[in-house]
Amino acid sequence: MTANNILILGGTAEAATIAERLAGGDHHVITSLAGRTRAPRAVAGEVRIGGFGGVAAMTDYLRDKRIDAVIDATHPFATQISANAVAACDAAGVRRLQLVRPAWQATTDDNWIEVEDGRAAAQAIRDGGYARAFLATGRQELPAFEQMPDVRFLVRLVDQPDQPLALADYDVVAGRGPFVEIEERALLGDQRIDVIVAKNAGGAGSWPKMAAARELGLPVIMIRRTMEPGDDPAASVEEVLKWIAGA
Ligand code: NAP
Repeated sequence: MTANNILILGGTAEAATIAERLAGGDHHVITSLAGRTRAPRAVAGEVRIGGFGGVAAMTDYLRDKRIDAVIDATHPFATQISANAVAACDAAGVRRLQLVRPAWQATTDDNWIEVEDGRAAAQAIRDGGYARAFLATGRQELPAFEQMPDVRFLVRLVDQPDQPLALADYDVVAGRGPFVEIEERALLGDQRIDVIVAKNAGGAGSWPKMAAARELGLPVIMIRRTMEPGDDPAASVEEVLKWIAGA
């Protein structure tokens, strides 16, 4: 496949790895970030930051920049941008490949309570009578956990918040993956966490908290994916690179 101008929809470690692996090659690579974090991780090649302004504007962008291929390497819970990419690539006649990390699977060593969304996760905390929850869901899910004065939350966010969070009782720990199991275990133990709330993000970078939960015998309230990957998604960075190379 000839793809001189490649747009990577990013915001994940995999997107940064793809940009890094393509940098210095024959392609012109632009990574697009939503601009949600204060100091995004360093990305090789050109970077643009901020929403496009919807499907029509993304379509115009693809045409203006003469984009030959789009790699949608966004997070599996970032469903709007992926839907927009499908529509804009169709409209502009641009090839698109989505990278979808395989979801994590529970084994008999895990104690997962699978739920549909943040509200159901909050209800599962109430139902379980948990008192100290580690919220590793990201900022967007936080409203579901307001009005829960009996629960002490440890909230992990990429950036320390500028404003107080609207949670009754909480602490924030700032951090960006990849995480390390031994540190995750220490954090959970030191904070006397009795339940973890997570999204089924898949991938290696956020897995260590799951490994730590398994090791400590902690329950995990796992928010399922709602995304419906399009046709033939790639499951790894290597598959994306092969697609780019035309293999
Ligand atoms: P989303 O709900 O799917 O997208 C909402 C809007 O944000 C999009 O319509 C688009 O605005 C803009 N946007 C999202 N990703 C963009 C990108 N890579 N480049 C340019 N604009 C983008 O997205 P989200 O869940 O808020 O996630 C935002 C970003 O954070 C994504 O890039 C994702 O990879 C990353 N991320 C998300 C999660 C998560 O749990 N959702 C976790 C880790 C990282 P316009 O319509 O104006 O173009």
